[in-house]
Amino acid sequence: MSELHKFIFDGLPVRGMVVRLTDTWTEILRRRASNSTTGAYAAPVREMLGEMVAAATLMQSNIKFDGSLILQVFGDGPVKLAVVEVQPDLALRATATVTAQVEPAASLSEMVNVSNQGRCAITLDPNTKFPGQQPYQGVVPLFDDHGKPIEKVSAVLEHYMLQSEQLDTTLVLAADENVAAGLLIQRLPMQGTANLAGSMVAKENEDQIGLNEHYNRIAILASSLKREELLTLDVETILHRLFWEEQITRFEPLEGASAPRFACNCSRERVGKMIVGLGREEAESILSEREDIEVGCEFCGVQYRFDPVDAAQLFTAPTRAVAGGSDPH
Ligand SMILES: [Zn+2]
Repeated sequence: MSELHKFIFDGLPVRGMVVRLTDTWTEILRRRASNSTTGAYAAPVREMLGEMVAAATLMQSNIKFDGSLILQVFGDGPVKLAVVEVQPDLALRATATVTAQVEPAASLSEMVNVSNQGRCAITLDPNTKFPGQQPYQGVVPLFDDHGKPIEKVSAVLEHYMLQSEQLDTTLVLAADENVAAGLLIQRLPMQGTANLAGSMVAKENEDQIGLNEHYNRIAILASSLKREELLTLDVETILHRLFWEEQITRFEPLEGASAPRFACNCSRERVGKMIVGLGREEAESILSEREDIEVGCEFCGVQYRFDPVDAAQLFTAPTRAVAGGSDPH
């Protein structure tokens, strides 16, 4: 089952989190695999998207923000877009748009950054907006300060956190066909407000980037975590192996009902309504050319199919039956 664990290093300005997504991740893969138009993800796409799902979950849990966090990678290779959306309660969904063959051992650059046009964007979209308010968005390229392509999702996001949040962050991410998992270690920002004292604190915070010895020691320990260990070991074992010499305080883990979980608001009923909206003539015209009307959800990849009998029913049934049917009114 999926779980997320938070902890702090006692007396040090460092916090950490581990996430392991199992059922949540396999549901995302199952939906995609069931889509007859797209088919399942190629292994390198699966790995990239899984790492993004783990990272976005960690980032959403790391902020106090009433809105969705959307992590996107826009590509100029065969993968045009990979996107993950995580709600404040850690309900999440993810998908990728793949327009050409991805080689079995394709690197991040080969998938999304062929001519260095790839970008990574993080959007915070508030649930309640005041009039005219735009979502906050930060964008970073998929190459480093020297113009060298970055080949790991974790390195892209570490770069982002440093550039736009001025936070030292270490991320270890991994995904396969069963698990998407991640470890995040972050130096805690010093608290400050927009007064004189606050700006001095901000300056002090900036001066600490890369220099805090406690953070650096813990970051080195975290970075020693291998992909295989992250995928196969339970959280207790991972934390003990890495940080057995450190004093850690753990928080109540998010598991069971409060764990990160898959959720998409698409449904067969909604798609049915959409087809009714197209009109009978359009629906019949599609069915004259193919066996089914197939509609894929652009947010989770699942595909809804309506054969001629289903479609005929849509147009003969009363509207409320299309909407779900059990409404007593
Ligand atoms: Zn969906």
